[in-house]
Amino acid sequence: MSDILMSLNRNRAIAPIVKALGLPNPVPLARAEGGYEAQPFAGKMVILGRSENGYAAEHLQAALENGSASLSDSGDNIDIFVLDATGCRAPSDYRVLYDSFHPVMRRIARNGRVFIAAPLPDEADGPVASAVARGIEGFSRALGKELGKKGICVNLAYVARDAVSRLEGPVRFFCGKQTTYVSGQAVRVTSLAAKPDVLPWTQALKGKVALVTGSGRGIGMATAERLAQEGAQVVCLDIPSASDALHDTCIRIGAIPLVMDIAEADAPRRIAAFFKDRFGGLDIVVHNAGVTRDRTLANMKEHYWDMVVNVNLAAIAAIDDVLLSQQVLRDEGRIVCLSSISGISGNIGQTNYAASKAALIGYVAALAPQAAARAICANAVAPGFIETAMTDAMPFIPREVGRRLNSLLQGGKPRDAAELIAFLCTPGAFGISGQTIRVCGQGLMGA
Ligand code: NAD
Repeated sequence: MSDILMSLNRNRAIAPIVKALGLPNPVPLARAEGGYEAQPFAGKMVILGRSENGYAAEHLQAALENGSASLSDSGDNIDIFVLDATGCRAPSDYRVLYDSFHPVMRRIARNGRVFIAAPLPDEADGPVASAVARGIEGFSRALGKELGKKGICVNLAYVARDAVSRLEGPVRFFCGKQTTYVSGQAVRVTSLAAKPDVLPWTQALKGKVALVTGSGRGIGMATAERLAQEGAQVVCLDIPSASDALHDTCIRIGAIPLVMDIAEADAPRRIAAFFKDRFGGLDIVVHNAGVTRDRTLANMKEHYWDMVVNVNLAAIAAIDDVLLSQQVLRDEGRIVCLSSISGISGNIGQTNYAASKAALIGYVAALAPQAAARAICANAVAPGFIETAMTDAMPFIPREVGRRLNSLLQGGKPRDAAELIAFLCTPGAFGISGQTIRVCGQGLMGA
């Protein structure tokens, strides 16, 4: 559904009235259309700041230069600002945050990117150093709120000392075009899962076999398309009533349809058998299929409760159990679960949905260390307000309010969620496992 405020702001006659009324003027977000580029930073004005005694600058610089960034402060506008803040151990070290950003705040370009590397608080030497590390997240989130109205995304990575060489993937994603609607996030880059044998930066999923559940429409469809664009052989799964849409998507993107209800008792076995027979295994599982059956708890029917818990949680756990125990999911595999902001903040009328989506946050955190033995990464993506059939069905006022309650002042597109999911499926994301990342334009709910 089109964004009325953005349309009004584009109309020269009406825009001044919108401004006089004090209504927001969201910046059109620059979205990537194609796949990953070998040199995503070519032609960009990129600055790399450093804290004293930081341990990540050399790796950040290599990641930026491998993507053809030339690091010189030579123009008016800054497209990408990267700061190595891993040297921050005492409160006085915070001056690097002020000194780096204060002089350039107005020069960071529309749709620009800010990426900050911080020390991992668990590794800090004592409570003060740990507090200082954790405080950088507060800075980064506040910065995201100040810069969001220009469509700028600000994200932070806590980097373990032994994982500092794993920054290239996160730098390429969080400083690149693909991170359009991901802002205000703090990810942990660790050495939990082993390094993949090959780290391709373009056609990053070539040779991989991927399953995307619920891909007849919405975020699932965009994800299937994005994975296929990166070279994966995608299998699109959806329920029988979505079969026509599923087949249309498959024809369009060269995917294979698999019509099935994931909540049926024999679905895990049938899925495992399908991939074993057809491909000898699979590499990527995106658990996207999800349902809402919203009612306040007092009015919630038992079967609504059960249905949401079964589809959104029990089915996922049952499918993974078979795929992992039978080793159908290959080494270096990727599992991505679709959680929700509702699972982080809770929401009226969504006790069932919020429980199932919060459970997925705990699920990937617990699964990741177990799966790491086979270099498998498990993560969750929590969308905020993404413009899909689910949000189109909302009444006008809650939809308008939902769209604006984020730093970017607009809803995201299915492609924005697909970009984050696709990144987590790539070999280059091997430093990220057990985590939940929001794609919400830095939404206020649960923030
Ligand atoms: P959607 O309703 O547009 O699409 C969901 C798809 O899943 C549909 O094609 C549906 O047929 C399929 N599906 C449902 N039950 C299934 C089952 N039992 N077996 C197989 N397929 C089934 O949803 P969406 O907006 O694209 O959301 C995708 C995921 O992201 C969901 O898990 C949702 O909870 C989550 N999410 C979405 C938003 C948002 O703003 N759109 C926000 C937070 C979380």
